[in-house]
Amino acid sequence: MTQDGTFAALERAWHHARIYLESLERRPVGATGSRSALRESLGRPLSDGRTEAAQVIDELVADATRGILGSAGGRFFGWVIGGSVPAAIAADWLTSVWDQNAALYACSPAAAVVEEIAGAWLKDILGLPARASFAFVTGCQMAHVTCLAAARHALLQKDGRVVEDEGLSGAPAIRILASEHGHGSVARAATLLGLGRNNIVRLATDPLGRIEPVALAAQLQDSRPTIVVLQAGDIATGAFDDFATLIPLAKARGAWVHIDGAFGLWAAASPARRHLTHGVAAADSWATDGHKWLNVPFDSGYAFVADPAAHSAALSHRAAYLTHDADARDQIDWNPDWSRRARGFATYAALRELGRSGIAELVDRCCAQTSALIDGLRNLRGVEIVSEPIINQALVRFCGAGGTDDDTRTDAAIAAVNAGGEAFFSGSTWHGRRVMRISVCNWRTSDTDIERAIVAITKASA
Ligand SMILES: *Cc1c(COP(=O)(O)O)cnc(C)c1O
Repeated sequence: MTQDGTFAALERAWHHARIYLESLERRPVGATGSRSALRESLGRPLSDGRTEAAQVIDELVADATRGILGSAGGRFFGWVIGGSVPAAIAADWLTSVWDQNAALYACSPAAAVVEEIAGAWLKDILGLPARASFAFVTGCQMAHVTCLAAARHALLQKDGRVVEDEGLSGAPAIRILASEHGHGSVARAATLLGLGRNNIVRLATDPLGRIEPVALAAQLQDSRPTIVVLQAGDIATGAFDDFATLIPLAKARGAWVHIDGAFGLWAAASPARRHLTHGVAAADSWATDGHKWLNVPFDSGYAFVADPAAHSAALSHRAAYLTHDADARDQIDWNPDWSRRARGFATYAALRELGRSGIAELVDRCCAQTSALIDGLRNLRGVEIVSEPIINQALVRFCGAGGTDDDTRTDAAIAAVNAGGEAFFSGSTWHGRRVMRISVCNWRTSDTDIERAIVAITKASA
């Protein structure tokens, strides 16, 4: 293995990256290879000896390509995925080349300082309190884990317990009050923290998926330690809870209020849409993603905690062999990981490339394109708009007279669009009915992409 081998492999990677990016306009958005074909092409015998790095890269691309989605491109509307802006991709490549361990300031001063700076920028853009502490984590789910670890500490401390020392055995159970439609990542965070998913109490919502204030108020009569999880952007409809009403209610009863804002919190970055997040800054913690709407490559979530003492009490770590500098921000004090990727570089690069108004423009454009897509489907026979866009999400359903039922018809339409390769959507069940989800959160999506998606759906619904 040589320096030349490294350069050759990186050059091949650049060559293939260029081909992939240039193909996004033309290539099928979905995968084109079957599972068995992928297993066969990738399942080479593990060689005994070495293989040249450049050859490994060439073969990886050849063998994997048919199982690589066009999710980096502009006609991918499934789940909530997001693309990657150019500076963030390049910074992410350099992060691997630099190979810094972003656990401690001493391991990489630049990685530590970049997180300090980008963390402050994020709070500013998202309208969160400047004093809040933060962590750059792998995704929104780990942001929930980070924030709820701080919540667990603070709630049990009121009971005289240091949960990090004593554990949960014998402690009062913490209830989690959350929307009946809440994202499953909150339940996974609760299981990892020993809070238990059976302690999640589901609150009734209005037809858009917003928690009913009376449902929350009724549950808050109980005086057990409580975490209230509110939604900035319901996963199905994109709806926002009424923070200005719900947060004061919960705080008056001593509850910790956590916000799941995986994509929706980014509405705060747009002057035209900031009102949707009105009152959200009064919460105790916030979780969001960089890899969705900010268009940073995957492995990018952000946790924010209003009370830095609770955050560091839950996560900070000291050991004899570690080197700490009193004035430095050691990431290990705020993150669940020990060794970790210097993921702050990609976020820093995206924020610099887009700038404040560029982020607002990205958010507004995705919302406008979601509306344009829905408008293009509105008058189609056999298409029902189940949820109008509030931000960048919408739901539609395929229906018609006779023959198959509309759930089957909807799943068949999604499958037909995806098989056509012009666009990609995912399905869900909303109020007991199958729907096609529409999520627009990629900077590459052009108005032409929206037109192409409308044509593809029109064909599939005919
Ligand atoms: C995507 C998403 C999550 C989970 O985020 P990850 O980054 O996948 O961990 C949580 N909540 C909502 C609303 C989401 O859309």
